[in-house]
Amino acid sequence: MKKYKIAVIPGDGIGNEVTAEGVKVLDTFAALKGDIHFDYEYFPWGCEYYLKTGNMMDPNGLKILKDFDAILLGAVGYPSVPDHISLHGLLLKIRQGFNQSVNLRPIKLLPGAPCPLKDKRPEDIDFIVVRENVEGEYAGVGGVRFADRPEEIALQTAVFTRKNTEKIMEYAFQLARKRNKYKKVTNVTKSNALNYSMVFWDKIFTEQAENYRDIITETHHVDAVTMYFLQKPETYDVLVASNLFGDIITDLGAALQGGLGFAASGNLNLEKEYPSMFEPVHGSAPDLAGKQVANPIAMIWTVKMLLDHLLEDCDTERITEAITEILLEGKTLTPDLKGTAKTHEVGDAVCERLKRLL
Ligand code: ATP
Ligand code: MG
Repeated sequence: MKKYKIAVIPGDGIGNEVTAEGVKVLDTFAALKGDIHFDYEYFPWGCEYYLKTGNMMDPNGLKILKDFDAILLGAVGYPSVPDHISLHGLLLKIRQGFNQSVNLRPIKLLPGAPCPLKDKRPEDIDFIVVRENVEGEYAGVGGVRFADRPEEIALQTAVFTRKNTEKIMEYAFQLARKRNKYKKVTNVTKSNALNYSMVFWDKIFTEQAENYRDIITETHHVDAVTMYFLQKPETYDVLVASNLFGDIITDLGAALQGGLGFAASGNLNLEKEYPSMFEPVHGSAPDLAGKQVANPIAMIWTVKMLLDHLLEDCDTERITEAITEILLEGKTLTPDLKGTAKTHEVGDAVCERLKRLL
């Protein structure tokens, strides 16, 4: 029996509701496999915790989380807490503190999921974005001078280190090999305008490509990528992007795959010296919170990514198949998919399918 310790941070709003469904699927998967077991420890961190304590997480949070095998996060956010506080006080602290240098975002349209592009079929939208996750435009370097004076100036400096950039590129090339789709990596850049950071980024991409001669490469400016996502998404396989560009294009990607209810992500510590963190892309959605109307599919997909990270070759595709069956059947869907099912009913339905598939 293999045992794994999972730190669960349900967070705020719908984070709580979707996390319960994620854990349900994890437990069902483990029970069906028989040889794995998950132990959970829950942490009540997030914006409500911040409003009570002044901190988004325990000041010793990183020390506490360090020895877990993985972290499962619901969502953080609250209308009265500024987004930069919730982001920097928890998410970025964990991503950067545990050197989770890759943010992995699969963009895949499941059969039965709604796609805004009417001429595209599910097989046309199946690619993955490798987003740099600890530095770049989000490194937190900069400052404001001459505050509140006419000459006030704000600076935000992007930071790209050779070591980290090489690592991201390498990961993208290896992923293209593993996926074995087109064996292609698209470099997302803006080196025509950003003449230091993105020229450097392109240079590292080209250098790393030399080590992966079997992989096709192409370089697209980020503005063109947004257009091609709509016009020819079927040409993409693996894309590698900086923190900011990756953030933007993956939300567009989420729209292509059916909306935020389908967008899953993993924050990976590639060295496996710290836990990786898995979270749906959506936020706490205060408008939906507490009503059991949130779509848990993004979280269930996120759990699949967690399993893929912890276990090798472990039938996790059955989870995707279970979700697809529910979409095609169309009976157990949340209101964002024009259904009337509750969040927990979708979780139950996925578990029921899994029992038949595994
Ligand atoms: P935060 O401040 O935490 O980012 P937000 O208000 O930006 O929260 P998001 O969760 O990012 O909310 O999503 C924006 C909107 O998309 C939500 O208000 C909600 O209507 C919808 N949405 C997001 N996630 C889901 C989901 N899992 N199921 C259904 N609808 C969702
Ligand atoms: Mg948001």
